[in-house]
Amino acid sequence: MEQQRHRMVEKDLKGRDITDPGVITVMGRLPREEFMPESYKSQAYADGPLPIGMGQTISQPYIVALMTQELRLNNFCEVLEIGTGSGYQTAVLAKLSRRVYTVERFSELSASAQAVLGRLGIDNVEFYIGDGSAGWFFDSAQGRPEKRTFDRIIITAAVPEIPQILIDQLGAGGLIVAPVGGTGVQELVVGTKKQGKLTEQVVCDVRFVRLIGKYAFEQ
Ligand code: SAH
Repeated sequence: MEQQRHRMVEKDLKGRDITDPGVITVMGRLPREEFMPESYKSQAYADGPLPIGMGQTISQPYIVALMTQELRLNNFCEVLEIGTGSGYQTAVLAKLSRRVYTVERFSELSASAQAVLGRLGIDNVEFYIGDGSAGWFFDSAQGRPEKRTFDRIIITAAVPEIPQILIDQLGAGGLIVAPVGGTGVQELVVGTKKQGKLTEQVVCDVRFVRLIGKYAFEQ
């Protein structure tokens, strides 16, 4: 596994355009197989997405690296992640920031991600099960956590557009990374918040499962 991980870093990350030393170090150490279902562990370092159950996928390692690199993280960042999935991206973010707040709609996936991060001793992550298209805010009816803002936001599922309610939860000068588009192919967008408005830049084409929720796609 260590050899395969080394190959992934050299070929699939550094061999493309991943240059962020933090991203390279963290992904070179993190045991990705721990985040995979038993039957896919042997393919943990393959150059593509793989099924993780509930019809969802763990993202291709290169895309995890690219999205993390685009976030320009530092030790002071508080990060909101929408779509915990396997928890692999969550773990990468946690190693490069102060705290990660991650939302997943399937309790089964969140539970298994919580277990893996616990085993790996990653303890700067708060998990929430619910509709992340609305972000992280207080809703007494649903018992959501309190409203607040974040330095960085990452959406790891496709959205038709970046929901305004998430832009509202991004702090001044903050960055948001998200796959924006329809079912099938989307554009990976990096948004920077300045004077309350988001300036968007397109990085490349990507393929993600859809974000299902009130401010994203319908069921
Ligand atoms: N970063 C994850 C990607 C998982 S795929 C990984 O690499 O493992 C996207 C995830 O978003 C899925 O787990 C899916 O269940 C979740 N998701 C979809 N709609 C959601 C919503 N409205 N709120 C929170 N999570 C959602």
